[in-house]
Amino acid sequence: MAKKKAAELIDFIDNSPSVYHAIDTVIALLKDAGFTELKAADSFILNPSGAYFTVNNGSSIIAWRMQSTVSPECFHIIGTHSDSPCLRIKPKPEVLVHDYFLQLNTEVYGAPILSTWFDRPLSLAGRVVIKTNNIFQPEIRLVAFEDPILILPNVAIHMNRDINDGYTINRQKDLLPILSIIEKDFQKNDYLLRLLAEKVHRATDSILDFDLYMYDVQKGNFCGLNNEFFSVGKIDNLGMVYASIDALIAEKAPSNAIRVACIFDNEEVGSATRQGAGSPFLADTLKRIYFSQISEKTQKFDLFQQMLARSFCISADQTHSLHPNYPEKNDITNVPLMNKGPVIKMAASMSYTSDGVSAGVFKHLCQKANVPYQYFVNRSDMRGGSTIGPITVKNLNIPSVDIGNAIWSMHSIRELGGSADQDYITRVFQQYYKE
Ligand code: ZN
Repeated sequence: MAKKKAAELIDFIDNSPSVYHAIDTVIALLKDAGFTELKAADSFILNPSGAYFTVNNGSSIIAWRMQSTVSPECFHIIGTHSDSPCLRIKPKPEVLVHDYFLQLNTEVYGAPILSTWFDRPLSLAGRVVIKTNNIFQPEIRLVAFEDPILILPNVAIHMNRDINDGYTINRQKDLLPILSIIEKDFQKNDYLLRLLAEKVHRATDSILDFDLYMYDVQKGNFCGLNNEFFSVGKIDNLGMVYASIDALIAEKAPSNAIRVACIFDNEEVGSATRQGAGSPFLADTLKRIYFSQISEKTQKFDLFQQMLARSFCISADQTHSLHPNYPEKNDITNVPLMNKGPVIKMAASMSYTSDGVSAGVFKHLCQKANVPYQYFVNRSDMRGGSTIGPITVKNLNIPSVDIGNAIWSMHSIRELGGSADQDYITRVFQQYYKE
């Protein structure tokens, strides 16, 4: 079984403890491969054989390869998302219990399986905002504590006899992790700010604010008798993020398509943010790429629309394998299985963008890449999830297909992937960028 790409993915995820770190890890890969950063506030001056990326608010990014004929004909886009459900630290989070235990106040980001956050070593990662002379341009530093500084212990079963009988986790009471036991001359106020100041070697009063999230410090690993599976958090959707960037870096040959990988934040909370799929980030960036390429004499809105009409988008996000304990949860004729290749997601409600035409295009790509493919459709009596695809094409008239790999434990602190599937999807993405 080919597991090379799954092993690379585990490393990528282990190096990406927060959404900001995930984008930072992507940036490092792109820079290593010769991509140039363009700041949104600067003008886009593009070399027809160049490779570029632009970052939006530290948590979303669009990378692309020009490497095309002088008048590129179309865009080949892969869209994914960088965020995963987790616990976010609130402002002024210090909670002192019995004048002894120091906890942090949290709120839930997205829809995690909350029970999986208990009784395991946890840490904090995210970004710290530091005062500078320019009020509107504070310095932003990524931080990850790395050590397991937080723990969320279960109460003993003797004190909660309902724990195995459908106990409802209270998001305000049950999800306050413990940070420490306090000393005598302890000052509760700004305790976390002081820790952050120490971490970034700055004075406490220079720390303006933070975006911090809890994460699992245990590294990912393969499992199953023959390493058929791999266990690590955030496979949804860093699996697809890594595959798209990996394929974009690999495919360098000249093409008549501009190859684009866009990674949005905030899919898990509805995408309606500046850095989410509901923003104009992708549409605006495609326009900037197009108009910077074409001389003023020939640039026309109509030509841009023609280019969009010839383009294609793969919206890539994970989906659900048949679970042997719950075979009744899947559709009766379309049953995705791990290690059987990418899954085309269809829904009559159009919560996925796939239709017969776009699914057909994706199938043909799989056939050409010699990769198996399967279908996911919700059971007709179940609602199922959605993803960035429908939100992306709402303001962009491009044919689109929704696909993903079949995994277990979606939104658990540790998800389970099929070890062969990361290789399969990478091959299909490479084929797509090759066409
Ligand atoms: Zn997802």
